[in-house]
Amino acid sequence: MLRQIRSFSGSTKASPNVARALRLVAANAAALALLASSALAGDNYKLLDWNWKFQKYPMASSFEYCSINAPRDPTDAAKPWSKVLDTIRTAADKWRYSKKDAKKESTIFQFRFTSEDCPQCPGLNYIEFGTLNDPKKPAETSYPNVSGTAKMKKCAVRFNSAMSWHVTNDEPKPTEYDLLSVALHEFGHCVGLDDLPDGFAVMSVGLKPGEKRRDLQSGDIAGRNKIYGDP
Ligand SMILES: [Zn+2]
Repeated sequence: MLRQIRSFSGSTKASPNVARALRLVAANAAALALLASSALAGDNYKLLDWNWKFQKYPMASSFEYCSINAPRDPTDAAKPWSKVLDTIRTAADKWRYSKKDAKKESTIFQFRFTSEDCPQCPGLNYIEFGTLNDPKKPAETSYPNVSGTAKMKKCAVRFNSAMSWHVTNDEPKPTEYDLLSVALHEFGHCVGLDDLPDGFAVMSVGLKPGEKRRDLQSGDIAGRNKIYGDP
């Protein structure tokens, strides 16, 4: 069984956009125009090798959320912070849309969640906070396939519990990762989209602490619709 993991680069190197743009200065103007009009504008997408398309209802299995290592409530350290799950659900809902099936009937594409906190962790699809393989990264998502097929079997998102997370709607501090932005990216992998090396799409890598990417760009939407169908 193949198992892939994708995560933000978390790199402190110079922006790949800058490096790439500099290289392109020496290239022809058409290439530069392509960069400006596609990658930087967020028009690109890249599909993973597998997806949920085979299911009658995309993501038929609900996601479980495990709060055990998640940020605590600022007013009561004994409790998980409910805003964390709210923010994760908001990110998941940003991928939601209504699409037509082969019979032109509308169906809703969306992620669903179990209501209990970590009822049988680790279940099929789950979201949790914990230690990552690469401690410099804010999150990792794994999405194994059914052996020998392009069928995504499950999706598991783990946020780095050692990072400082920004959970509310206002501006993240320069030291904080914006949970909504990172969760939106990780759910993009669950949708079936791969990382983009540069640009400002949700699926572009390189989000830094203090930065936000809270809305799907045209490429993110085009990638999702390419797999599951147009609205
Ligand atoms: Zn990624």
